[in-house]
Amino acid sequence: MHPVLKIHSMENTLQIYNTISRKKEIFEPINPPFVGLYVCGPTVYGDGHLGHARPAITFDLVFRYLKHLGYKVRYVRNITDVGHLENDADEGEDKIAKKARLEQLEPMEVVQYFTDRYHKNMDQLNVNRPSIEPRASGHIIEQIEMVRKILEKGFAYESNGSIYFDVKKYNDSYQYGKLSGRVLDDLLSNTRVLEGQDEKRNSSDFALWKKAQPEHIMRWPSPWSDGFPGWHMECSAMSAKYLGEKFDIHGGGMDLLFPHHESEIAQSQVANGNEPCKYWMHNNMITINGQKMGKSLGNFITLNEFFEGKHASLEKAYSPMTIRFFILQAHYRSTLDFSNEALQAAEKGMKRLLQGVDTLKSLKSSNTSVSDIKKLTDNCYEAMNDDFNSPIVIANLFEGLRIINAVNDKKETLTAADLELLTNLFQTFILEILGLKSEVEDSNSEILDGLMQMILNQRQQAKANKDYATSDKIRDELIKLGIVVKDGKEGSSWSIE
Ligand SMILES: [Zn+2]
Repeated sequence: MHPVLKIHSMENTLQIYNTISRKKEIFEPINPPFVGLYVCGPTVYGDGHLGHARPAITFDLVFRYLKHLGYKVRYVRNITDVGHLENDADEGEDKIAKKARLEQLEPMEVVQYFTDRYHKNMDQLNVNRPSIEPRASGHIIEQIEMVRKILEKGFAYESNGSIYFDVKKYNDSYQYGKLSGRVLDDLLSNTRVLEGQDEKRNSSDFALWKKAQPEHIMRWPSPWSDGFPGWHMECSAMSAKYLGEKFDIHGGGMDLLFPHHESEIAQSQVANGNEPCKYWMHNNMITINGQKMGKSLGNFITLNEFFEGKHASLEKAYSPMTIRFFILQAHYRSTLDFSNEALQAAEKGMKRLLQGVDTLKSLKSSNTSVSDIKKLTDNCYEAMNDDFNSPIVIANLFEGLRIINAVNDKKETLTAADLELLTNLFQTFILEILGLKSEVEDSNSEILDGLMQMILNQRQQAKANKDYATSDKIRDELIKLGIVVKDGKEGSSWSIE
C-alpha cells in the first residue's frame, strides 16, 4: 500500500488514550504528515532493567505503527545525565555524581558506560533508535533560558542561589495536578517538610535551578549561581527545542506522571504560554511475582541477567525476543507481572508465531479459501487503532497461525490471493510492527560467511596462479584461528574446529 493512501484511510481511525483527558481520543497530529513524539529516557547510572524495557518497547510500538501508517515521525528520547537527584523532592545527591564518587570515576565516564550498555540492551530488544537522543548536560543554555523566562513571568523565585517554581501561585491561574489528578491542597498538607526545604516557600515547589555545593563537580555558571538544572527542566527545554513548543505525543512510564510530567506542563505553560503536547501517553508498571520491583526486595533483575539467566529468581535465561513478546502480550496501560511460568509460555508462543512466518513460505494455494483473511487483517488494524492494543493483535495472529498450520496439514485451503494477504499480514504485524525477529539466524554468521567466501576465493585465485606459497599461507593462518579448510572436487569448504 502507498504510505499516503494509508494515512488517508487510517488517520481518522487511530485512537489514543490521552492521560490528561482520561479518555480515548482520535489522533489528529498538529501538522500532518509530521508527528513529534517525546519520551522520557533513562537516567544512566546503572544497568537497564524491566522498568526500562517496558516504556522503550511500548513507544517503539507506537513509533513503528505511526511510521507504518505513513506519518513522518520525529522521535526524541533523552538521556538524563545530570540533575536527577536521589529523591523527587529536590534533595539528596545527584544519582550520577553519587555513582561516580563511589566508583571513583568522572561522572561522564559513568554516563558513557551506562549509555553504551543501555543502547546494547535496546538493540538486543530490537527497539529502534530514536531520531534524536539529546543529553541534559548538552542543553544547559536552553534550560537556563527557560528558567529565565519563568522568572520573568513571575512564577519562580530565587532562594539562596537556587530557583524554585512557585506552584501555589501557578495554581491560582492554572491547575497544578491536572495530569495526575492530584489536588494542591492535599499535596501541601500531606508532604512532610524535608531537611533543606526551608529554601522553598512551599513543600510542593520544585527546583528549576540548583546551586551546587562546593564539592559538587557537575556545575555550570548561570545568572544565579554555579549549579545545575532541576530534573524536570531538561525535558521541557529539549522537547521544545527539537519538536516545537507544542508537539503531538509525550510519553513515559506512569511513575513519571507526578511530579515529573505535571511539572513539565507547568513549566511550558508559563514559559511558552501553552501546554507542551496534545496527547499524553503512559505505560503501566511491571511487578515481579506480584511484588513491586525494588533493589531492597531482592527481585531487581537487570536485562543482562534475564538474557543470561543469571539471577536467583530465574529458572533459565530468557532471550530478548521473549522479553519483548511478553511485554507486547499485555496492553501497555495494564500492569504486567513477570514470572518464570509466564515467560516460558511467552517463549513458546513467540517461537510458534515466528515458525508460522517460515511455514507460510512453503504453503500451496488452492481454488477456494476456507478462512476470511481480509477480516483477520482488518481485526489487526482495528486493534492497533484502538490505542495500540497489541494483545488483541497477537490473538488474531494466533488465529492466522492456526490457519497456516491447517493449510499445511491439508485440512484447510487458501487461494493464492489470500495466501499473499496472509503472508503480508504476518510480515507486517510480526516483523515490522511488533518488531519480533528470529533469534536463530545470527547476523554475525552471515558476515562471517561472506568473509570466508572472500578469503577462499583469494586462495583459489592464488592456486590458479600456481602461487602455492600464498595459498598455503592462507590455509595455515586460518588454522591458527581455528578454521579448517577442506579442499574437494566441488571447491573448498570450511569449518570452525
Ligand atoms: Zn522527562
